[in-house]
Amino acid sequence: MFLKIFLLNKKILIVAFLLLILFIYFILYFSNTVLLASTYNNESDKFIDSINNIFEGNEKVAYLTFDDGPNPSITPKILDILEKENIKATFFVIGKKVEEYPKIVNRAYKEGHYIANHGYSHNNSLLYKNTDSFINEIEKTDLAIGNAIGISNYCSHVFRFPNGFMSNIYKDKKNKYVNYLADIGYTYIDWNALNKDSEQKYTKEQLLNNLISSSKTKNTLVILMHDTNDVNDSSIVLKDSIDYLKSQGYEFRNFYNLK
Ligand SMILES: [Zn+2]
Repeated sequence: MFLKIFLLNKKILIVAFLLLILFIYFILYFSNTVLLASTYNNESDKFIDSINNIFEGNEKVAYLTFDDGPNPSITPKILDILEKENIKATFFVIGKKVEEYPKIVNRAYKEGHYIANHGYSHNNSLLYKNTDSFINEIEKTDLAIGNAIGISNYCSHVFRFPNGFMSNIYKDKKNKYVNYLADIGYTYIDWNALNKDSEQKYTKEQLLNNLISSSKTKNTLVILMHDTNDVNDSSIVLKDSIDYLKSQGYEFRNFYNLK
């Protein structure tokens, strides 16, 4: 009889113990999830604030940004130079090109570069067709990036309007759609220095001079270049551009490492 009660109690004790373990596990699991989610939101708010105030800094910081890639013949050359120089940059990628060349984006991400969003098609008539197509162009690009780098629900949080927000192309539409960015956890950024590599054919020296004249007297530089060979190949002047910026006392950062 005693033995029976003892065995029964033992069974109850084991079940109770297992339930307790399960209970503790769920408490820890959910509190951790909530904690991560709130940290994530705080972090993305902080990131958006930092991007919005990027030009306010007093220190000499250069952010190299490359638009319109990935491109199989240019992006790897740029990545090689950045790797050699130990500089992290930011790539504003086009979604449909990411789908074509996911391995290049994967490499850029793994080497510490920030992968940012430049829309899916780079086609203004599709981008500004309506609100849904605007949001869709951004979300489809994030999805393509996420697939390329192996992160589900990837959100880059920073969009660059094709031709820049500041250009007069589709100005009314941009003024309207810019208001939707906050709803999807986004902000946007243009640039304040450039080598004009997408404007017309330039020599290496002219590309460097364009960068020098557009960056003069500025502390924070967000430099626009392109990792394409549509007009010029900026990889030929990248090393010289880096050397120039270093000689002027600039520190290089990317959007993972905002000042
Ligand atoms: Zn572009």
